[in-house]
Amino acid sequence: MKAVVLEETRRIVVREVKDAEIKEQTDVLMRVTSSAICGTDLHFYEGRMRGIEGGIIGHEPLGIVEEVGSAVINVKKGDRITVPTHICCGFCAMCVDGHSSACLTTNPGDAGAAYGYPNKGGYEGAQAELLRVPLADANCLKLPGEPGDQWEDDFVLLADAWTTGYHAAAICDVGPGDTVAIFGAGSVGLLAAYSAKLRGAARVYVVDAVKERLEKAGELGAVPIDFLKGDPIEQIKEQQGKWRAGGAFRNEKPLGGVTCAIDAIGFQARSKEDYSKEEPHWVTEAIAELINPAGRIAVVGLWPPKDPSGSVESLKQGRLLVPWDKLFGKNVRITMGRDDDEKWNGKLRDMILTGAAKPSQVVSHRLSLDEAPEAFRKFDERAEGFIKVVLKP
Ligand SMILES: [Zn+2]
Ligand SMILES: [Zn+2]
Repeated sequence: MKAVVLEETRRIVVREVKDAEIKEQTDVLMRVTSSAICGTDLHFYEGRMRGIEGGIIGHEPLGIVEEVGSAVINVKKGDRITVPTHICCGFCAMCVDGHSSACLTTNPGDAGAAYGYPNKGGYEGAQAELLRVPLADANCLKLPGEPGDQWEDDFVLLADAWTTGYHAAAICDVGPGDTVAIFGAGSVGLLAAYSAKLRGAARVYVVDAVKERLEKAGELGAVPIDFLKGDPIEQIKEQQGKWRAGGAFRNEKPLGGVTCAIDAIGFQARSKEDYSKEEPHWVTEAIAELINPAGRIAVVGLWPPKDPSGSVESLKQGRLLVPWDKLFGKNVRITMGRDDDEKWNGKLRDMILTGAAKPSQVVSHRLSLDEAPEAFRKFDERAEGFIKVVLKP
């Protein structure tokens, strides 16, 4: 089969590899029809998280069941399926409690497994023509329709991008009337904004510096904030002041900030002063400054255990300086972490089916598997409006 292999840092190749195959009778084999490239893949591509060099990359597939292990009950050959990024078993203590991203059996000795991901169980990645899906009954989300139909690019986002975006809005408890600031307008940040709107937010700000991404945020009904055009806190407070003018009935004026904030960037945030450099602290500091008393904060942008090639000494040891005093003084609630995909993917599928949501609005490029090397390069450079790439094996 043809697959996208991360040979070494910044070297993606598409080549013939041994076909994926059924290894356990609880597996199915998926013929992949769409496989998205994730911002997380770029951390591996840039060598900032290592350990999958020489292996197949990717963790966001959609496809058709090609072959079924004899112990699989709920899925049959020909079914259209997607699977969550985090491989789960469905029977361990974490899975039965709804925390599928911390499954205790799929990555023995640790909590949580994933496709094409360092230190997550060694499973092959999903940017390939075929994918082995372990524990199929627990992982396969069945979908109607057929390859290439009107839902193809919506369904592929159920593997990770939309479930993580929705998870961000959900753990942040975004509800009717909330004002939400989202840092990062990659596909997860954009889909967090989209989800915040679906959950009834009154106003959503999306902070980034890439023109096409900010435009997309505007298309999705959010207020784009370009952090290179002035302090994003001041810009948001100014917008909040305008919108609030004349509408303060309960002395809201001193609040000025937002009720909810989401970090959808993580450890590779770019500097406000010099976009060519990384400055991982400022987003956390900006959120602490901007959040209103009793506000809620969700962190879904990735923070790795250590960042040996990072720009900040403390982060090389996996430590981030956080203005704890401000956060404590405001009685804020902080939540963070990986998405328990299975909590959301079926519900979000149904929103796609009924027309209540169309997440594929964030997909910017649809390319063949052979175009993966160029797609990684341009996505990494944030060039030519590369926001979300879906490969079509
Ligand atoms: Zn992803
Ligand atoms: Zn489990």
